[in-house]
Amino acid sequence: MEKIVNLCKQYGFIFQGSEIYDGLANTWDYGPVGVELKNNVKKLWWKRFVQESMNSYGVDAAIFMNPRVWEASGHVGSFTDPLVDCKECKTRHRADNLISGFTDKINPDTLTDEEMIKYIRDNKIPCPKCGKSNYTDIREFNLMFETNRGVVKDSSSLVYLRPETAQGEFVNFLNVYRTARAKIPFGIGQIGKSFRNEITPGNFTFRTIEFEQMEHQLFCKEGTDSEFYKQYKEKAMNFLYDLGIKKENLRFKDHDKLAHYAKEACDIEYLFPFGFGELWGTHNRTNYDLSRHQEYSKKSMEYLDPETNEKYIPYVVESSVGCDRLTLAILCDAYECQTLESGDTREIMHFHPALAPYKACVLPLVKKIHSEKALEVYNMLCKNFMVTYDESGNIGKRYRRQDVIGTPYCITIDDDTLNNNTVTIRDRDTMEQVTLKIDELVNYISNNIKF
Ligand code: ATP
Repeated sequence: MEKIVNLCKQYGFIFQGSEIYDGLANTWDYGPVGVELKNNVKKLWWKRFVQESMNSYGVDAAIFMNPRVWEASGHVGSFTDPLVDCKECKTRHRADNLISGFTDKINPDTLTDEEMIKYIRDNKIPCPKCGKSNYTDIREFNLMFETNRGVVKDSSSLVYLRPETAQGEFVNFLNVYRTARAKIPFGIGQIGKSFRNEITPGNFTFRTIEFEQMEHQLFCKEGTDSEFYKQYKEKAMNFLYDLGIKKENLRFKDHDKLAHYAKEACDIEYLFPFGFGELWGTHNRTNYDLSRHQEYSKKSMEYLDPETNEKYIPYVVESSVGCDRLTLAILCDAYECQTLESGDTREIMHFHPALAPYKACVLPLVKKIHSEKALEVYNMLCKNFMVTYDESGNIGKRYRRQDVIGTPYCITIDDDTLNNNTVTIRDRDTMEQVTLKIDELVNYISNNIKF
């Protein structure tokens, strides 16, 4: 992981947040190539889950929502993590993480707080900081960030920064149903920031206090929910395969303990450098969410079936993935350090071309002679894709710089370009070169970056 963190910093994928002030723990800023990568992740998710899914609609809901939303959703009452303090060194830990770090024979999600602390004490699980084993009882700690709106700071001004985007989809169910004249089954998708006051953030961008989620809720009729649940599990996995993530690094993991409203729940886990970690959740949430909003808002959440005239509150199958976590998985998965025959090493990001921050780099072979023509080519290409330009250093070094940021194509402008308008285009993965006419370039690249 350290290698990935350093590479991200060195080449402009991800920087520490507020770095010049020594940072703010667990905040990260995406740099010039990182923001392109992350934007591409969002674009491709939207394409697959909204654009190419018939009867799927997008929304972009406000981060601040009426606090009643979070009462209805259950977050005010039970969006908590089990917290213990080490009495010796005063550090805070999640009790479930202490257990899962100690043994893989027990799933802490299946234990009550009392059972967890008993297990920790019986087994004298050491504090990860000081090594002693002397803990307080467990306290349930709510993960929602609170703030106040307006000038008066009292309970009536309390608002939360949303801890998930899903509620934005639920509270807009009626709006979308009405304005899109949607028929069940239909979906609502959203990409946006969420905030959680995590007790133990870490592992780079895996767990942060501010992150983006890509969530899709499929509203369907009871009885069809389990079939959609299966479909959405597969849809998520196939999307990851299509992004080029290696199959051996992905696995399904059913939840051992279901949330009280969930009928079925499953995660896709990715093998991060620190071990398998949750990447993507698929949940059959029954009609819990809409029923709760009906109860709390007093607005009917019923759907009227136009064919049968039947009225019912739809079931929901949720597909939920963290954009930052997925971007991290993509970075880890794409990285390779090759040793070439010459003995040199070559670092490459084997991104799917549709994910690559830059689709091509334009390189004049000799700056003084070829840069004018190279700029012409650059100006033509940048109207179509994100491309970059590099005229400094020897050509081999320039290729390496593009390999490590995952640019699939390097286009070299040389004497042949000046004489007969041809360029050589080098493939990142195979390092093979082909010759093309300048006016074939846009088509060539477009055809090779499709998703
Ligand atoms: P975890 O068990 O890792 O805390 P969760 O089960 O609480 O995650 P969900 O509430 O299902 O996660 O959120 C959906 C997705 O959002 C997760 O699968 C993950 O990709 C992402 N996510 C959740 N919490 C964070 C976080 N603190 N930082 C980055 N991404 C997150």
